[in-house]
Amino acid sequence: MITLNDYTPIVGEEVVSQLYRLAERLKGRRFVHINSTAVGGGVAEMLARAIPLLNQLGLETTWEVIMGDPFFFEVTKAFHNGLQGFRVQLTPSMLEHYRQVNLENAKRFAWEADVVMVHDPQPASLIEVLRPQARRWVWRCHVDVSRPHLPVWRFLRKIVRQYDASVFSMPQFAQNLPHPQYLIHPSIDPLSEKNRELTEKEIQTVLYRLGIEKDKPLILQISRFDSFKNPVGVIQAFRLVRRHTPCKLVLAGGEATDDPEGPAILAQVQEAAHGDPDIQVLLLPPDAHHEVNALQRAADLIVQKSTREGFGLTVTEAMWKGKPVIGGAVGGIVLQLRDYHTGFLVQSPEGCAFRIRYLLHRPQLAHRMGQMAREFVRLHFLITRHLRDYLTLLILQANPDRRLVEF
Ligand code: UDP
Repeated sequence: MITLNDYTPIVGEEVVSQLYRLAERLKGRRFVHINSTAVGGGVAEMLARAIPLLNQLGLETTWEVIMGDPFFFEVTKAFHNGLQGFRVQLTPSMLEHYRQVNLENAKRFAWEADVVMVHDPQPASLIEVLRPQARRWVWRCHVDVSRPHLPVWRFLRKIVRQYDASVFSMPQFAQNLPHPQYLIHPSIDPLSEKNRELTEKEIQTVLYRLGIEKDKPLILQISRFDSFKNPVGVIQAFRLVRRHTPCKLVLAGGEATDDPEGPAILAQVQEAAHGDPDIQVLLLPPDAHHEVNALQRAADLIVQKSTREGFGLTVTEAMWKGKPVIGGAVGGIVLQLRDYHTGFLVQSPEGCAFRIRYLLHRPQLAHRMGQMAREFVRLHFLITRHLRDYLTLLILQANPDRRLVEF
């Protein structure tokens, strides 16, 4: 079992002992997280890593996953798309079904908690039924709400305003709400199967198993098959690069149980890649952490050409592996990639192609940027910093009159 002390060699003794000091003030408090999928996507990824560590720190922390039928997840995907700016239509029957499914889920939840953290819009309306079961309710938004489609946000805002606080991943996402809003960046766990060091043999074994021959520079994007991740834009960029520079592209992704659009987007990607021997589209199972790790380590360059992005853990993961990343200049990717330092931001397939070529022809710069990227992640985006932010938030929620927490 991984313990907090195992992080000391990576982040230093002070960071770990600070966590113990903060947690001392929260011993025995009950902390419940609720989201809508146990696997697939960044939220499940982070919860799976954070919950055991919060328990080790002495907080009684549990994780609930709401269930829903396909129509429910169509509705919540429409919320997701609307919050990220698509002009989606919500009908009264969709909204009614959304509330009804949460009502059914609420019947299963008998706990009492000090603080409940509800992740994203899917379970948000649980507060309307379960409010008395917890002292404080916090809404944790992971999506890019910088430019929401207003009818969707207006509906959700009526629910979110009932919470005691909200958490966003970057200041640009903050909203007009009648309660405190906190800024917490997501994180990765350097000791997880997804991010731990791998031997060259382990990497080669995965490449062999997946049928990837590394005879040319390898460009990689790992993402759920989601239109905001823009996999077809990556193919366009790749083809521009390949006109002059030999290389191959792997687009690897899985499905999340709360994302019903995956198969349609995967079909579009397969069609766009059809017949191209230099493009491989891989559908990975949700627990393919080792494979994702090996692919990221095998790649020469990593792309995350999203058009909206709450944060983009795939960017963080790649940076931690010392890889130069080229990402869409949107949402949380902007927090991570600093041009010429920790990566490159791009706005179009042409810009992406330009930067891929630029880096493929400058291996030393690519290597230096990768090293800086890793250090940037070590300082800002590892799970220990995330735990510190959670503990601080919990202390503030337990003492609503306080504005400051001394470490
Ligand atoms: N992921 C994975 N397998 C896949 C696709 C994605 O394990 O086939 C992981 C990825 O490594 C990352 C998370 O899912 O840890 C995606 O988080 P991100 O913030 O990049 O995007 P989200 O899916 O939450 O929008």
